[in-house]
Amino acid sequence: MSDPPIETIVVDGLALANGIRDTLASRIAAHVEAGRRAPCLAVVLVGDDPASASYIKGKQRACARIGMDSLEHRLPPSAGEKELLDLVDGLNRESGIDGILVQLPLPKGVSANAVTAMIEPEKDVDGLSPVNQGRLLLGEPGHRACTPLGVMKILEQHAIPLEGARAVVIGRSVLVGKPVSLLLQQAHATVTMCHSRTVDLPGTCREADVLVAAVGVPRLVKRDWVKPGAAVIDVGVSQVDGKLVGDVDTEGVKGVARLVTPHRRGVGPMTVTLLLSNTLDAYEARLGG
Ligand code: NAP
Repeated sequence: MSDPPIETIVVDGLALANGIRDTLASRIAAHVEAGRRAPCLAVVLVGDDPASASYIKGKQRACARIGMDSLEHRLPPSAGEKELLDLVDGLNRESGIDGILVQLPLPKGVSANAVTAMIEPEKDVDGLSPVNQGRLLLGEPGHRACTPLGVMKILEQHAIPLEGARAVVIGRSVLVGKPVSLLLQQAHATVTMCHSRTVDLPGTCREADVLVAAVGVPRLVKRDWVKPGAAVIDVGVSQVDGKLVGDVDTEGVKGVARLVTPHRRGVGPMTVTLLLSNTLDAYEARLGG
């Protein structure tokens, strides 16, 4: 007799995010009631990419909703690396700025590594500077990258056991794959990292109790790639015929996975929320310092 199908939980990332945002809003309100200024995030946009402009607006709206200030700095597409580095340098010195976010990708000729390296680590609320990435590697306190942190929060909120679990991460980017692998390892999972040269990707994925897909290939992860009872986190976002699609065949994995994040209202709202959380942490650390 075959096993009965598993009741798959489809994670409501927006509800989880809203719960965390309520807590952040209460923390900010308490500071303001005590006569302190609100925390402030500086967002920097270079160029006129509509997707980046829309992400920036979304982040600013999210700030406003929890009582956090945000300041937008726009540079023209023609801006060079020096201009951007000077802007970041100025923001590092401004005492009223707690966090700095430079929206990626940057125009050709501007090095994202040079720019993230310029952000003062305590204000690097995106967690992408070499210092914060190094702190993650060393297991030292520091801002962690928002999407990987969002993935960990989802697993934590759903009480997914990580200690001793087999975790497979598809993708090895500095933005998602590498940091999420390190966070899973720090939570005592046994982690396998996969990428475009991995041999037998489906077979490797089938070993996972926790499967994180951060690839950008539409519906790469199929039903028969998933171990029964696995938690499947879909980070990927791609466009197919004008529609947003994730890395996981969400409908296909239902009945096999114990939990799956949908490509909408899944990891995305958590990413923005962890940016807000990192900014509030930076503000509170500066108050205390
Ligand atoms: P990336 O820098 O392009 O990295 C993609 C990774 O996937 C690379 O390591 C690549 O391997 C691997 N890969 C590509 N094709 C593969 C295949 N067929 N099989 C196995 N591995 C393959 O992308 P990223 O910045 O990490 O982002 C990944 C996805 O997450 C994108 O869709 C992005 O839009 C999305 N994302 C979503 C959020 C959110 O908040 N929801 C946040 C960030 C990113 P190689 O290293 O060998 O090239």
